[in-house]
Amino acid sequence: MTDKFTVSSDENLRPVDTQSICSFTVRRSREQSLEQRFKAGIVWLILNGKTEQALALLAKHYGVKVPKVEVGLPKGRKKIALGCYSAKNKTITVMNSDTLKEPFVILHEFYHHLRTTVDAKHQGTEKYADDFAMGFVHAYKSTVDKEIGNN
Ligand SMILES: [Zn+2]
Repeated sequence: MTDKFTVSSDENLRPVDTQSICSFTVRRSREQSLEQRFKAGIVWLILNGKTEQALALLAKHYGVKVPKVEVGLPKGRKKIALGCYSAKNKTITVMNSDTLKEPFVILHEFYHHLRTTVDAKHQGTEKYADDFAMGFVHAYKSTVDKEIGNN
């Protein structure tokens, strides 16, 4: 009796295990495509001048406060930059209204906002900020390519 019970419980376990692995795989790929669509949507909003809406969605997505955004870099800045981020004021500043529609610049600066929210002393490296921004731009490009059938 004891032996029979052991065997049958063993047999019962196997299909359950396989099933849970399968559903995990499906859920994972669905989450990844949702993430890609989210990223593509953010880039689209910025390109269409809806930068504040994009920043509000990003802040919600990553669970941080919405950064402020201003046009016109602080006077007296020696280095010419398209954008900068002030952790003290939690403000992204961009050079002009055209730069406000540059997804790469906005997302690069948002990365600094995200990073300093996690750890006030570290803005994160420029490379990571670039990688973060490129992830969004690539998601947008691959979505557009799919739409027009280039992929
Ligand atoms: Zn930077």
